[in-house]
Amino acid sequence: MLVVSAHAADFVWRAGGTIALYASRGWRVRILCLSFGERGESQGAWKEPGMTIERVKEIRRAESTRAADILGAEIRFFDSGDYPIVVSQATIDGMVGEFRELQPALVLTHAAADPYNLDHPMAHQATLQTRIYAQALGYPLPGTPLGAPPVFMFEPHQPEQCGFTPGVLLDVTPVWDTKHRAMESMEAQRHLWEYYTDLGRRRGVQAVRNGGPSGIKYAEAFERVYPQVTANLS
Ligand SMILES: [Zn+2]
Repeated sequence: MLVVSAHAADFVWRAGGTIALYASRGWRVRILCLSFGERGESQGAWKEPGMTIERVKEIRRAESTRAADILGAEIRFFDSGDYPIVVSQATIDGMVGEFRELQPALVLTHAAADPYNLDHPMAHQATLQTRIYAQALGYPLPGTPLGAPPVFMFEPHQPEQCGFTPGVLLDVTPVWDTKHRAMESMEAQRHLWEYYTDLGRRRGVQAVRNGGPSGIKYAEAFERVYPQVTANLS
């Protein structure tokens, strides 16, 4: 599984359960983190006196690495800055290389819109762009061209404003404790721990309401970019 995260913690809040679940099943999960979120998503760190941008980046890198470790995933940082993320040609090619080498069976990234943080749609666009390039026989990089792995968009912080309607609810109850421990790695955003616990619980209730087993306590929501191909509708 390949996960493209705009900032250091996005993958933890939005898809930590999914990452932990697949890792627990023996999947190789690799996270591409475009930015440390040093300017826009590190409020806690900036409250400390004498903080510098380099120090914030170090803190976020450490937190994020610890979280990925807890979830059982690998992580690579591109350090593309934030506010705005600048996706260079080198980053694009680095991501194409990742797609071609890993040949992911599925891809997770941000939704296409987010009026609160335009870095998130930028990460969405970079993901689709590199997936498309990785498929092209003529794209001049080594490696086997990519097939067509499905792309799942994880839930934005304020889904209504982003036009996000859950189309998939994944039961993450068995790994919830792991996700919670990963969230606790994010000291710079302590205010979000409870928020995302509530969200997971709410999505869990909705999963049961939509026909899931009554044992579901926590779930994560996704939307698909491309159609699901299936031989059966039920
Ligand atoms: Zn973010």
